[in-house]
Amino acid sequence: MNITLVRVFHHTPQIVSYSFTPERPIRYIAGQFVEIIIQHNDPDKRGVKRWFTLSSSPTEKYLTITTKLSVISPSSFKKNLMHLNIGDSVECSEAMGDFVLPKSDNIPLIFVAGGIGITPYRSMIKWLVDSGQSRNIQIVYSAHSTAELTFKDLLNQPFIELYPYTEKEKLTAVKIDALCSGIKDKQIYIAGPEPMADALSKGFKDLGSSRHQIVTDYFPGYK
Ligand SMILES: Cc1cc2nc3c(=O)[nH]c(=O)nc-3n(C[C@H](O)[C@H](O)[C@H](O)COP(=O)(O)OP(=O)(O)OC[C@H]3O[C@@H](n4cnc5c(N)ncnc54)[C@H](O)[C@@H]3O)c2cc1C
Repeated sequence: MNITLVRVFHHTPQIVSYSFTPERPIRYIAGQFVEIIIQHNDPDKRGVKRWFTLSSSPTEKYLTITTKLSVISPSSFKKNLMHLNIGDSVECSEAMGDFVLPKSDNIPLIFVAGGIGITPYRSMIKWLVDSGQSRNIQIVYSAHSTAELTFKDLLNQPFIELYPYTEKEKLTAVKIDALCSGIKDKQIYIAGPEPMADALSKGFKDLGSSRHQIVTDYFPGYK
């Protein structure tokens, strides 16, 4: 279906949210992703399609994606995304994916976000707040700098313990275990660049987590 750009919001010069209005209502669960197609001339080898998590909540009027634009060598897709004007339309798939909140509301949750990997959590938390619910959530949010910690205001909720992580050393499962005072009996969500998600999943398994305790969302294309 076609979706039409209605709003562009710069969180930082490089981190940008794009909001769209769909031609017909789209049903989705907070945390799910869509495929966006931007047809353009001379696409590079990565092509005209990308997956994006919806950073918006199903309770919101617009569909929003949030992305980090590369200054040095953006793909032809991102260049065309950057140059969209309000009123332009792009193609969007149905929402998909199972990186969503567990049905049971009494499982303590650890949300690990690497940079732009905060997008599914923004959707889930906005959905919880708008529908008057809460969960026991600890968020470990790794970013290059404090300025890049996007959606900080929304993350400031009484039911959330937020642990921003802007240190140079890599975030590890051992550090998350220490920050969150243990991971036992907690459901661990990991969203971020593929190498980080892989390394953390392995780290949590080494700490004794079971496969079922870990839910991952890989963002390929980021280092
Ligand atoms: C389920 C899922 C959900 C996702 N959700 C999001 C989301 O919410 N937000 C989001 O931003 N992304 C998300 N992604 C990732 C997204 O689909 C893109 O892969 C990502 O944004 C990178 O975009 P890009 O390839 O256009 O590269 P760019 O953003 O333009 O560049 C990214 C990096 O790739 C480098 N690069 C440049 N050229 C090449 C090349 N030819 N080959 C390899 N690397 C190159 C650049 O130097 C830069 O460091 C998601 C992916 C999946 C699978």
